[in-house]
Amino acid sequence: MINSTLTLHERPSSATHTLDQDGAAPRISVVIPLYNEEESIPHLRTALHQALESCGYSYEIIIVDDGSKDKSFTLLREWALQDQHMTVIRLRRNFGQTAAFSAGFDQARGEIVITMDADLQNDPQDVPKLMAKIDEGYDIVSGWRKDRQDRWLDRKLPSMLANRLISNVTDVRLHDYGCSLKAYRRDVLQHVRLYGEMHRFIPALMSQVGGTVTEVPVNHHARQFGTSKYGISRTIRVMLDLITIWFLGSYSTRPIHVFGTAGLLSAGGGFLTLLYLTIVKLFFHQDIGGRPLLLLAILLVVIGVQLITMGLVAEMVIRTYHESQNKPIYIVREVV
Ligand code: UDP
Ligand code: MG
Repeated sequence: MINSTLTLHERPSSATHTLDQDGAAPRISVVIPLYNEEESIPHLRTALHQALESCGYSYEIIIVDDGSKDKSFTLLREWALQDQHMTVIRLRRNFGQTAAFSAGFDQARGEIVITMDADLQNDPQDVPKLMAKIDEGYDIVSGWRKDRQDRWLDRKLPSMLANRLISNVTDVRLHDYGCSLKAYRRDVLQHVRLYGEMHRFIPALMSQVGGTVTEVPVNHHARQFGTSKYGISRTIRVMLDLITIWFLGSYSTRPIHVFGTAGLLSAGGGFLTLLYLTIVKLFFHQDIGGRPLLLLAILLVVIGVQLITMGLVAEMVIRTYHESQNKPIYIVREVV
């Protein structure tokens, strides 16, 4: 991701950039993806300043301009030049919210990474609430928009169903996967690679590498400026991503178990059906040539063999994946 980003280097060299006064990394990095939100920026700046200055943690703000076409970048550049806490990363084009998060995470230096939206729907005043849970020892604290200010039919309803489904499939039970306001411990977050539109699954992905998850109710405001960048079609993409998450979470180091099981069931069913047809033919002298069952049986056997073969190919792929980059299949917390 780093290669495709253009970081703002125009800051005077004396500025401490992402480091604190005493040269240490800040406690929290606030990462905000932003796409065409020019009207929100001045309000965002005030809100962040008020909340972060009063919360008492050392902090940095990283705003990722995801290829905005309005005046957003001009405003952000001005802000970054005036505020030593602030860094802007400008992507070359619109890569999407997940890529923007990813670019921000790569730049973040803080022990804790806090994400939120740029459209003022999240409230920076909730940061201490998230941090309280982090201090209790959780690795991931997810915001829960208990009183969500969005339309019911195309926002809240699909989201409610999606959250139930995601919770069941991933076994990480959250009321609100879609809320951007979340806090992550960075040493756990760095084990997670993001693709497609997977940012909403970060809690599940981090839990897969051993992170502990909790949630807290947070404020939510209606969008004041600009328009949402998403429509109802997002639901389908979320469902497809969920299949990937489920597969990678449960079977990424043993794909033959999922492909092989389905393959054996299919081939086995087909084989038994063929056996039955053979008996009917040989011992009861019935014609089987025109029976639909014969077609079905052959189809089942062919699909079954293909699934098993696919499982074997996947086994070779994951070996290449892990062994070519010396990637272990486990993650160590500590060695005493
Ligand atoms: N966003 C982005 N890149 C995109 C789409 C959105 O960086 O391609 C940002 C957007 O500026 C906002 C956040 O992601 O800060 C959430 O987007 P939006 O508010 O449109 O989503 P919603 O709240 O409607 O789910
Ligand atoms: Mg929004």
